[in-house]
Amino acid sequence: MNAACLSAGRDPAGVRLLAVSKTFGAAAVTEAVLAGQTAFGENYIAEGVDKIEALRLWESGRAGPPDANGGKLEWHCIGPVQSNKTRLVAAHFDWVQSVDRLKTAQRLSEQRPDGLAPLQVCLQVNVDGGANKSGLAPGEVLALAREVANLPRLVLRGLMAIPEPAADFEAACELHKRAKAVFDEVNAAGVVPLPMDTLSLGMTADLEAAIRAGSTMVRVGSAIFGSRG
Ligand SMILES: *Cc1c(COP(=O)(O)O)cnc(C)c1O
Repeated sequence: MNAACLSAGRDPAGVRLLAVSKTFGAAAVTEAVLAGQTAFGENYIAEGVDKIEALRLWESGRAGPPDANGGKLEWHCIGPVQSNKTRLVAAHFDWVQSVDRLKTAQRLSEQRPDGLAPLQVCLQVNVDGGANKSGLAPGEVLALAREVANLPRLVLRGLMAIPEPAADFEAACELHKRAKAVFDEVNAAGVVPLPMDTLSLGMTADLEAAIRAGSTMVRVGSAIFGSRG
């Protein structure tokens, strides 16, 4: 990430690392926490909730000074959220990056428990038209952003995209730049009180291209935890 930022002429402090721990157990997450990582991404709701609870227990029983984040881990839901799972997601996660329907957003807002901070949300954009993929078409993003910005228990933080693998670095940059263009368009339209600050782009295979295109958060699984087999 540092090398990619330097080669793109960007400040490394402008790109966050989300460690994608799907399919790995709580022990792998605690190891990453002890190495200083605080933000984790999960695709599967039930698996994610189990891990969130296991890590909460582990943190509460942990001796010694809290880590740099005051012992607070940040959990991001990055997988599809079916309607019957919104309540679990709203009760356990800090962020949801995969919102692509108003109905899901409304349910998440209604079901977010009062005692918790508002749920931080990214809209998922399908930048290459991949037929089997979730996500809004680029032309649909602004309208949903306006609706989500009005929901009381959500904060619209940005956009997330998962472009198809590209033939080379330049082609990957072009795909990521489509997401960046939508991000700039929504911010220019001024739909939220503050500009969105999160452009979640890039995984193990394409994080350099994503950072070149303007990513502010890369979601990295296998480069951290190893192959998922
Ligand atoms: C699995 C996954 C990742 C991480 O992928 P790696 O190739 O292991 O880095 C990132 N984002 C999403 C949405 C994923 O499902």
